[in-house]
Amino acid sequence: MSDLHDLQSDSAVYKTLLESTQAIPWKIDWASMKFAYIGPQIEPLLGWSQESWVSAEDWAMRIHPDDRDYVVNFCISQSKLGVDHEADYRALTKDNGYVWIRDVVHVVRGENGEAESLIGFMFDISERKKTEEKLISLQRELEALSFKDGLTGIANRRRFDASLEVEWGNAQRGNQPLSLIVLDIDFFKQFNDVYGHIVGDKCLTNVAQTLALAIAGPRDIAARFGGEEFVILLPETDAHGAREVAERCERLIEKLKIVHEKSGGSGFVTVSMGVGTITPAEGQSATDFVQAVDKLLYAAKQNGRNRIEAASL
Ligand code: GH3
Ligand code: MG
Ligand code: MG
Repeated sequence: MSDLHDLQSDSAVYKTLLESTQAIPWKIDWASMKFAYIGPQIEPLLGWSQESWVSAEDWAMRIHPDDRDYVVNFCISQSKLGVDHEADYRALTKDNGYVWIRDVVHVVRGENGEAESLIGFMFDISERKKTEEKLISLQRELEALSFKDGLTGIANRRRFDASLEVEWGNAQRGNQPLSLIVLDIDFFKQFNDVYGHIVGDKCLTNVAQTLALAIAGPRDIAARFGGEEFVILLPETDAHGAREVAERCERLIEKLKIVHEKSGGSGFVTVSMGVGTITPAEGQSATDFVQAVDKLLYAAKQNGRNRIEAASL
């Protein structure tokens, strides 16, 4: 008698505990896919009444459409494997808003090892998500304001544009040659396809750092122009000097020996380059110069890649 009494008071204690935490407890019966329980805290959070959570379908339909397929498929596959898991998603509220939820799920398995039920806790992680989103947007802002490429650490397009303007003016006034190398990795789409984006990013960083090493002049700049395309600006450098830098880049990249089975023969990552030199006259535009060098790069691609096309413009 006293045992039963203890049990009853114990379960009352557990119930009170469960229903007074911030986290929302729930249980789903695996065979029927019906809710056996969901904490009353769900209603103040999302607006849907406790009784309205009948089946797993109700849960799925109350996930933001952009998160739904991924989350449902992930949870089902993990549950089938009997693996405890957690998922972050936006839960829809009754008044058409959403709340970021972290659902932490424990798979209860029967004697035969198969899933019997799922029990879990939903946590409201809206505040954390807001902070995260704020941080990401601040980082974007900083990147936009800075002269450094976020991935590779070398100069970015903004820096290049600013330097080009200054050096174009310098070259015009001083009647000095200005050279530009535009460089693009060969078959980089295939590189990503074969080795994945993360390895692709590492390759970009490696190539970028190598280009930064290849320049020596105090005003020389190696920058990421965009994607897998780089530029090297060489003030007071004639065609001969520019070719030397281009060939140095070629050799240093060759030495990296980054394996690329679809690189079109060599088995390693190679690059194509357009190299242009100009002594700009009054009235000529820097943009036209960049475009002309870009055309040389295009010719290098057309002529078989892994090569340099140079011209005095
Ligand atoms: P080509 O020899 O003619 O240059 O062929 P390609 O495949 O290198 O050229 P394409 O311009 O078709 O593809 C460039 C690829 O570079 C596509 C894109 O997925 C990849 N890429 C661009 N930016 C990044 C990046 O930041 N990281 C990674 N991993 N890949 C990138
Ligand atoms: Mg390319
Ligand atoms: Mg490209």
